[in-house]
Amino acid sequence: AFADRYGSVFGRQQGLMLKMAGLASSECSASGPWIEDSAGARWLDFGSFGVHLLGHGHPQVAQALTAQAARMGLSSKILANEPIVAAAERLLALGGEPLDGIILANTGSEAVEAALKLARIATGRRRILAFRHAYHGRTPGALSVSHGYERHGALLTDGQSSFIEVGDLRAVEAALATGAYAAVIIEPVQGEGGIRPVATAFLQALRELTRAHGVRFVLDEIQTGLGRTGQLVCPVAPDIRLLGKVLGGGMFPVAAALFDSAQFGAAARDPVVHASSFAGSPMAGAVVNAVLDVVTESSFAPRVARLGERCRELIAERIGRHPAVAQVRGEGFMIGVEFKDMSDAGQMIIEAAKRKLLIAFCLTAPNVVRVYPPAVIDEPTLMDGIERFCASVVALPS
Ligand code: PMP
Repeated sequence: AFADRYGSVFGRQQGLMLKMAGLASSECSASGPWIEDSAGARWLDFGSFGVHLLGHGHPQVAQALTAQAARMGLSSKILANEPIVAAAERLLALGGEPLDGIILANTGSEAVEAALKLARIATGRRRILAFRHAYHGRTPGALSVSHGYERHGALLTDGQSSFIEVGDLRAVEAALATGAYAAVIIEPVQGEGGIRPVATAFLQALRELTRAHGVRFVLDEIQTGLGRTGQLVCPVAPDIRLLGKVLGGGMFPVAAALFDSAQFGAAARDPVVHASSFAGSPMAGAVVNAVLDVVTESSFAPRVARLGERCRELIAERIGRHPAVAQVRGEGFMIGVEFKDMSDAGQMIIEAAKRKLLIAFCLTAPNVVRVYPPAVIDEPTLMDGIERFCASVVALPS
C-alpha cells in the first residue's frame, strides 16, 4: 500500500523497488547488513546505491553524530570548528599526493559542481571532457558530464555532445589538443553506468596527458572511495579528488572536493567558489572523523578486496554461464552482473526479494544488477547473501 501511494512520488525506479520488496522505511529498523520489517522478517541489504559500506546504524558513527548534535549542530561559520578541521586534514592525507585544499559539500553532485567551477576559473576554459557510461550526479554541471542525459541539452558543456570511450587515448589527446578543455573527469570504476572498472594504466595516461595540456584531472571517487573497491583511494594522483557516499557513514549527507591548490591559483583561495549553509558543519566533521576511524583501520580495505574477489569468483563460477548473464565484473564490494536482457535484471531483483535479499540496478544501465555488501558483515552472512543472489539467477524462467 505504501508503494502504491508513494511510489510515483519517488519516481519509477524507487517506486518499483519499494513495491518489489514490500518495504516502507518508516516501518523498518536496520542494523549492520540487516533490515527488519514490521512483521519481524530480516532482509539482507546488498542494495544500497553505495552509501552503506559501514552498514546501517554503525555504532561509532551514530555515537559521534548524536554526541555532536547534542553539543552543537549546524552553526559552523563563525566559530572555530575543530571537528571539520581535523577531518579535513585526515582526508587530505589519505592518498599521499600533495592535496592541500578542500571544499566541503552536502552531496556528491555538489562536490562535482565545485570541481568543475574550480577547473574553469583556474584555466579560463569551458569544456569538460567526460566518458561513455560516466555518471557524476544530477545537478546541471554534473548532469552535463554524465552520459545518457543528453536530453537535458548538455546544460553546461557548450554544445559538447560526445562522450569518449574509456581507453581511447587518441580521442582524448585530439580533444585536449584543441585547447578548449578545462578538465577531464572520470570514475576509477564507473558505477551507475554499469560497474565498469577502468584500467589503472588508462588513468595514469590521462594523468600525464592532462598535465601536458594544462588541463585539470578530476577523479570522481564518490562511489568508489573509502574502501568500496578494496582500496581507500585510487593510486593515481589527481588535481581534484571527489569523495561522498561512504563519507557520511550511512547516516549523514556529506561530500568533499580535495584539491592541489598550486593548480588553481586565486580560485583555490576564493571562498565563494563554492559554499553552502549546511556543508562543513561540526556534525559533518564528527561523522567524517568516525568514518575515517573505521575505514583507515589497517585491515578494513584489504578485507574488502579479498572477500570481494572471492564473491566475484563464486558468482562467476555459479551463474557466469547462465544463458541470461552477459558478464560478471567489479572490484571489492562493487560487483555488477550484466544481464543480456533488461527484463531478466528486473525479474532477478524480484527473485532476490523473495529470498529476502535487497539488491538494486545501476541508474543508467538497468540491465546491470549490483551486488554491494556492506563491509560490516561476517563471512557466513556474506556467503549466505551471495548464495541467495545466485539462487535468484538460477530461478529465472528460461
Ligand atoms: N558521482 C558518482 C560517481 C556517483 O556514483 C554519484 C551518485 N550515484 C554522484 C557523483 C552523485 O552523488 P549524489 O547522489 O550524492 O549527489
